[in-house]
Amino acid sequence: MSAIELKHVTLEYPRHVTALRDVSLSFPEGAFISLIGPSGSGKSSLLRVIAGLAVPKEGDVRFDGVSVLEKKPQERNVAMIFQNLALYPHMTVYKNIAYPLAARGYPKEEIRARVEETAQLLGLQDLLEKRPRRLSGGQKQLTAIARALVRKPDIFLLDEPFASLDEQTRSMLRAQIRRIHEQMPQTTFVYAAHDQAEAFALGERVVLLRAGSVLMHDTPQQMCAHPADLFSASFIGGGRMNLIPGEMLRDGETGREILLGILPEAIKAAGRGDPQEDDLTLHAVSDGLVRWGTGLAGAFTISGGSLLSGAWENAKVLFRENGKAQYICGQSEGWPDIGEAVVLAVPRENMNIYDGATGKRLIPGGGTNNDYDS
Ligand code: ADP
Ligand code: MG
Repeated sequence: MSAIELKHVTLEYPRHVTALRDVSLSFPEGAFISLIGPSGSGKSSLLRVIAGLAVPKEGDVRFDGVSVLEKKPQERNVAMIFQNLALYPHMTVYKNIAYPLAARGYPKEEIRARVEETAQLLGLQDLLEKRPRRLSGGQKQLTAIARALVRKPDIFLLDEPFASLDEQTRSMLRAQIRRIHEQMPQTTFVYAAHDQAEAFALGERVVLLRAGSVLMHDTPQQMCAHPADLFSASFIGGGRMNLIPGEMLRDGETGREILLGILPEAIKAAGRGDPQEDDLTLHAVSDGLVRWGTGLAGAFTISGGSLLSGAWENAKVLFRENGKAQYICGQSEGWPDIGEAVVLAVPRENMNIYDGATGKRLIPGGGTNNDYDS
């Protein structure tokens, strides 16, 4: 039952490793937040700061508006689980789940009631007398989750908890996590995700970290459709976004180098169709022109670009840039011949324009979204 707020948090490890840089984030009570970012980007560090296992050099951490910097981890009512969470091998599932309560001296009856309730929640009620070595990998992680949740934490932190498990087990555990969150609507979940699909499937909001900085904090939909900068655009979705170099030619502005970011599925029509007034139309041969609505938005030079043969029916390879094929899919009837000009229609709201110099998104909008009311 805690909203979480980080204000200008900077975390340094010895030898001047800056793990978090001026991180400001705000998660409402009961939210489900996923963290993504390359290895070393600060996901674990962010969780450790929330848990109180790492102390920021600067900034503040608040639960429900109250600073918790002075509170020890065990005073924060935060539970955290990891990828390699060891269960006590000599104890049954029951004893493992009961352990955090027993260690705090809870009365036996309350322990029993809570363990049974938690086991029920996780579907472990028939396994309570087993020892860990008799459990599957998924059942072990469920036991670890139960042990973390039996104390009824206000905040539940998960650090790549399923990374070492097979896909089938992970998908079962994902579904369980979603269900648990529904059953504990006031507990705030922060989930450092091993893969993006997991992050986007689970998170109401996703935070993208890079080198300790927050690049984006947004809904999965926004994050996929409108990455905030070129790094995000190349990272999210494993580089699916087409990034086409060009030049901005707008009123009073010439020669600004830009990249046009278009997701394959954003292209709603391709070929020789009639684009709508508001669509971006891309006349792409080796030299392209970009139109946005009726006004000329930019002139595009696709370096070494050409229409490629062979893949029209399926992948629809369109551009070759720096020797690397880029894929644009689209619905089309009658694909054009090689070398023929092709018109792609991209709805305006699906188009991203990035400043070539700064890498920041110019259109649409900028910045990240920390506003949960919208
Ligand atoms: P992630 O979980 O996204 O992989 P981490 O939060 O573990 O990232 O790491 C962030 C940065 O802090 C990395 O550069 C990492 O090498 C460094 N780091 C993490 N833990 C320690 C530590 N105990 N001592 C020194 N540096 C650390
Ligand atoms: Mg980590």
